[in-house]
Amino acid sequence: MGKTIIISNRLPVQLQISNGGITAIPSVGGLATGMKSVHSGGDSLWIGWSGLTNEEIPEELEDEIDDALSKHGSSKVSLTEEEVEGFYFGFSNRTIWPLFHYFLEYSEFELDSWNTYKTVNKKFADAILEKADEDDTIWVHDYQLMLVPQMIREKRPNIAIGFFLHIPFPSYEIFRTLPWRKEVLEGLLGSDLIGFHIYDYERHFLSSVRRLLGLEVSFNDIYKGNRIIKVDSFPMGIDYKKFSEAAKKHGERSPEQHSELQQRLNKHKTSDPDAKFLLSIDRLDYSKGIAKRLYAFEYFLNKYPQYKEKVRLIILAVPSRSNVPQYQLLKREIDELVGRINGEFSTVSWTPIWYFYRSMPFENLIDLYTSSDIAWLTPLRDGMNLVAKEYIATRTDKTGVLILSEMAGSANEMNEALLINPNNFEQIADTIYEAINMPKEEQQHRNEQLQQRLRRYNVEKWAQSFMNSLLAQKERDAAHV
Ligand code: UDP
Repeated sequence: MGKTIIISNRLPVQLQISNGGITAIPSVGGLATGMKSVHSGGDSLWIGWSGLTNEEIPEELEDEIDDALSKHGSSKVSLTEEEVEGFYFGFSNRTIWPLFHYFLEYSEFELDSWNTYKTVNKKFADAILEKADEDDTIWVHDYQLMLVPQMIREKRPNIAIGFFLHIPFPSYEIFRTLPWRKEVLEGLLGSDLIGFHIYDYERHFLSSVRRLLGLEVSFNDIYKGNRIIKVDSFPMGIDYKKFSEAAKKHGERSPEQHSELQQRLNKHKTSDPDAKFLLSIDRLDYSKGIAKRLYAFEYFLNKYPQYKEKVRLIILAVPSRSNVPQYQLLKREIDELVGRINGEFSTVSWTPIWYFYRSMPFENLIDLYTSSDIAWLTPLRDGMNLVAKEYIATRTDKTGVLILSEMAGSANEMNEALLINPNNFEQIADTIYEAINMPKEEQQHRNEQLQQRLRRYNVEKWAQSFMNSLLAQKERDAAHV
């Protein structure tokens, strides 16, 4: 068996240029962790963009960068600033991202960005073709690279190719509005296996394939020429141990060892026996429903005024894609809403909302997860939502209530959470009330089941089951031909 080649828009390594030298720092994100079991030792290679454009990389550092990356089993695809603009900020984030999250009115259909998307996908495909042997296994990740599978297939008809989409696949009625809908489907169908987080996305994809390409679909198999392409769902998990162990260590610390943030949190918790924290953590993205959540919080405070001065909402909004206009508008809207609600409800001893617009170090994330009585996550549309799973993994004593939008992929596996429709303020207000008053035994009973499931189906299992399924499909397809 040959090597495994993983390909994603960004490499799992951050490059930093300082004092004329280069440092490569491995990232700690979920994907990088999950792929550890797949991407280990010398029999695998990760291909992606380094995060620095050609204009940002001094020529004399080129070789040094390649050496630094190869120590991490990585190889870079070089992109110009213009390519990043058209491919990443353009087609990926102004066309596909809004469309696939059902924000049709935000989707821009620009021929220029589509052309750059094609050119850049070709660059990624060429980088793979340069390194790939016939018996290698290739795993392509996410919506930035949907044309890559077919571009490889044309040159290597027999190589094993898997593709995983980390965002939702929308219903046919939404997807059909894309001018280049057939090209995108054809691009994906170069794969042997196409994976989604949940069955609904898989179903939407199959329906688009049937209706737009007229191909024969039977259960989750697509028949194309003499090939069979399998489609399946693989809900992505988290590094459960990392979160549960960090929370356990956190619980063993004495108050003097607590972080500054934790000490502030402690102060509020001891201010009143009924004091509660509601927590929400998301990238600042319109798909996450942060503004709606703020309106819903205001609605809750008006409907249940007995919780004024007791309940505090912590919003951690992580800066994201801040050069895309929609994100700048959203930032302004949220800043203003937080200001207005705090201005309206604050008293001398209480501010209803604590708002952080930044990314927090891991230690502080654990402080927030472990100190919050309720995690309140209301995306309008979300491929998975890992924050929901991380919150549950940190609840070492099994208390805590998760209120989760039914529009998040993770809701499918988290039935024991309180599931809500993010547009229904009446239901949300009543659910917050229910969460605040939920008996401890019931919280523990629900979380016990959630924890068992998340511990078992962690991110490593996710990666392994995708790879196993890809290899099995390749064998089946070979037998079919
Ligand atoms: N996260 C982070 N720093 C922060 C806040 C969050 O690294 O300051 C992480 C969080 O732990 C989670 C991820 O960002 O793993 C968000 O993943 P999710 O699936 O919830 O949403 P996405 O941002 O991928 O849409």
